[in-house]
Amino acid sequence: MVDYLESLTEQVKSGDRRALAKAITLVESTRPDHRQQAAELLEALMADTGNSIRIGISGAPGVGKSTFIEAFGNHLIEQGHSVAVLAVDPTSAVSGGSILGDKTRMETLAFAEKAFVRPSPAGQTLGGVTRRTRESLLLCEAAGFDVILVETVGVGQSETAVADMTDMFLLLLLPAAGDELQGIKRGIMELADLILVNKADGEQAKSANQTLNDYRSALHFMQSRFASWQPPVMACSSLNKQGMDEVWQQVEDFRSAVTEAGELQKNRKRQARAWMWNETAEALIADLKSHPQVKSLVAELEQAVVEGKLPPTVAAQRLIEHYKTSD
Ligand code: GDP
Repeated sequence: MVDYLESLTEQVKSGDRRALAKAITLVESTRPDHRQQAAELLEALMADTGNSIRIGISGAPGVGKSTFIEAFGNHLIEQGHSVAVLAVDPTSAVSGGSILGDKTRMETLAFAEKAFVRPSPAGQTLGGVTRRTRESLLLCEAAGFDVILVETVGVGQSETAVADMTDMFLLLLLPAAGDELQGIKRGIMELADLILVNKADGEQAKSANQTLNDYRSALHFMQSRFASWQPPVMACSSLNKQGMDEVWQQVEDFRSAVTEAGELQKNRKRQARAWMWNETAEALIADLKSHPQVKSLVAELEQAVVEGKLPPTVAAQRLIEHYKTSD
């Protein structure tokens, strides 16, 4: 087993895509022995991570995320980059893999030599999907990919999860009349480091211009995530592959600005610390809940809380007390 892990580590480092796929399968597994091996693998590869720009991509279903990733990814490959595409889709637990799962999406990119496309791990909670995607991201970096794109479905909490594992967050929007602007959740706009009005082609080209102005003024009233970066708003057409070079230019400008200001490193450090505590909290809760002497108390206390007989704080204190004193 040690030999297997050692050779897998070396193969991933050398950029072997089959090895990378195997390594990701290992981190996606919930089997305790696989978790242990995944931990060893990640530790061995840690020194080789961190050398990519991590880009989150979000937007409502149908806005053109996969078309954008296909066009943008191929453009980057033409420029000499290597691109890994991951996804965070907690709904795939229900639907059996809705984003990136469909092979017809990102067809050319999926088969490009300098690209690696991996669907969201299925059958997991958002927490599980998030953890596995973070770990896969590190593996892709160790395999030498210099641009990592993480797609999210654009519903629920997955946006925040993706913003918390990437350096830059791209939000795709549609050309729309001003009053439709209200429909976009403020919280999601506040996460954006770059807003792209996609489908700025054909009949929609004109309304796209108006939309740009609307979003620019909307952003005026919002706080940007980084002091050194004011989120720009620009138009593109993923279908016609227009604007891809400009988007990359923005990514490079973003990277220079936040790196020079020390904000990129600071953000990664904050993310790593938060991830560690999330893991700790999750593992502790799982251990507590499965502890034989605590298990029966869990049901009892939950019941008392639900019926309003016991304040949740008191119940939590009792659980923890019991957990600490049991062996
Ligand atoms: P996703 O659900 O956000 O991943 O969206 P898709 O990439 O699957 O695109 C949804 C539909 O919009 C597809 O029919 C695409 O061909 C179309 N589409 C995507 N980008 C553009 C674009 O830039 N212009 C136009 N006109 N259509 C686009």
